[in-house]
Amino acid sequence: MEKTYRPDTICVQAGWKPKKGEPRVLPIYQSTTFKYDTTDEMGRLFALEDEGYFYTRLQNPTNDAVAEKIARLEGGVAAMLTASGQAANFYTIANLCQAGDHIVCSAKVYGGTFNLYAATIKKLGIDCTFVDPDDPAEKIEQAFNENTKAVIGETIANPALTVLDIEKFAGLAHKHGVPLIVDNTFATPVNCRPFEFGADIVTHSTTKYMDGHAMAVGGCIVDSGNFDWEAHAEKFPGLTTPDETYHGVVYTKQFGKKAFITKATAQLMRDLGSIQSPMNAFLLNVGLETLPLRMEKHCSNARKVAEFLKSHEKVEFVNCAMLEGDPYYELAQKYMPNGTCGVISFGLKGTREDAVRFMDSLKLCAIVTHVADARTCVLHPASHTHRQMNDEQLREAGVTPGMIRLSVGIEHPQDLIEDLEQALLQV
Ligand SMILES: *Cc1c(COP(=O)(O)O)cnc(C)c1O
Repeated sequence: MEKTYRPDTICVQAGWKPKKGEPRVLPIYQSTTFKYDTTDEMGRLFALEDEGYFYTRLQNPTNDAVAEKIARLEGGVAAMLTASGQAANFYTIANLCQAGDHIVCSAKVYGGTFNLYAATIKKLGIDCTFVDPDDPAEKIEQAFNENTKAVIGETIANPALTVLDIEKFAGLAHKHGVPLIVDNTFATPVNCRPFEFGADIVTHSTTKYMDGHAMAVGGCIVDSGNFDWEAHAEKFPGLTTPDETYHGVVYTKQFGKKAFITKATAQLMRDLGSIQSPMNAFLLNVGLETLPLRMEKHCSNARKVAEFLKSHEKVEFVNCAMLEGDPYYELAQKYMPNGTCGVISFGLKGTREDAVRFMDSLKLCAIVTHVADARTCVLHPASHTHRQMNDEQLREAGVTPGMIRLSVGIEHPQDLIEDLEQALLQV
C-alpha cells in the first residue's frame, strides 16, 4: 500500500509514475491501439485474464494515470474517465440498473442530470423518483420501492447551491441495501470527500473546477470499494452473476473491490464508447495540479463578493453557503469546513429588464454558459437557461426574474467587486 499523502501532494505527484529514463511529465498516449508479440498475449486481454491496453475505446494509459490521481484524491479504490460529466452520471446508473429498475434522486440537481434521469433513462425502462433533499428521512423513504437500485444527490447542487446532507442520504440508501452516488463536481475532493460520510460512488463533471480553465469537457466515476454487492446479490445481478459477453466472468468474484469500475470499463465503454480523449485527459491533469490552490482562491473570492453583494441596497438576497445565516451554512460547516466553491447566486431588486441592464453593464465578468473556471462569469437564468418561462413559472422553479448566477473566478477580488459595483449603478 502506497503512503496516503495530503490532497495538495496527490494533485501534483499521483497518477503518472515514470520509470528510469521515462518522461517526467505525463505523456499523451495519442494512439488508438497497442502492440503485442504473441496471439496468446492479446487473447488473455480479451478474456480479462491479464491487465493491459489494447484499444483506447476501453482504456488508455494517459486516462488511467489521471483516473488514478482522482481516485486517490477521493480516497477510492478505482476510477475511470468518461467523455463528459453526463456520460459519468449515465454510466453509473447503466452499470447498476436495467429495464424495470428504479432510482431515487434529489430534485436539486443539475438540469442535464434532471433530463437524463427524468426523461432519457425512462425511455430505457428505468424509473426515477425525485425527492426534496431537505425533507426528513421518513418522508424521503417513501420514494423507495423493491426495485430501487441507487440513490443520487449533488454535494453542492448546480445551480440551486443547496448542500446535501450526505449522512442522511447514505443512511437511507444503506437501509434499503443500495449504494449512494454523489456528484461531487462543485465541491471537488479538495473541499469534500463524500466517501468519508458514507457515499459509495462519486461522479464528476471534470469540465468544471478540476479542469479549471474551461478547456476540455470530461467526466469521472470513482468507486469507494465499500459497497458489498454480494450481500445484496439479488439486486445487482450484473455484478454478481456471469457475464456471458466475457466468457462468464463474475465481476465481484474476479475483481473484488474493483468490480464496479471493471464492469463499467469492460461492458459499458466497450458497448457505448464514451471514453475521454487522451488529449483532454492530459489537459485535465494539468488542471488538477493546481486544484487546491484554485479552490482556496475561488472560495475566498466568492466569500468577499457575496459579502459585498449582501450589503448592497439593490440586492434582494444572496445564496452562498459560506455566509452565516444562509439556510445551508450549518451543513456546509459540517461537510465543507474549508469552503464550498466559487459559484454563488443573488437576486437584484427589480425586473427582468433591470437584471439585463446589470448584466450588459459588466466589463470584467463575462456572460457565458459555463461555470467553475478561472475567469469570473455570469448567467441570467430568466434570459438564458429558463428563458421559456414567465415570471410565475420562474418562481415555481425557484428562480426569480432578477436572479443572477455568478461563478467567481480567481481574479483579484477588489477588481470583481468594482466591476459589480459600477454595473449595479446602472440599475
Ligand atoms: C456540468 C455538470 C454536469 C454535466 O457535466 P458535462 O461535463 O457538462 O457533461 C453534471 N453534474 C454537475 C453538477 C454539473 O455541474
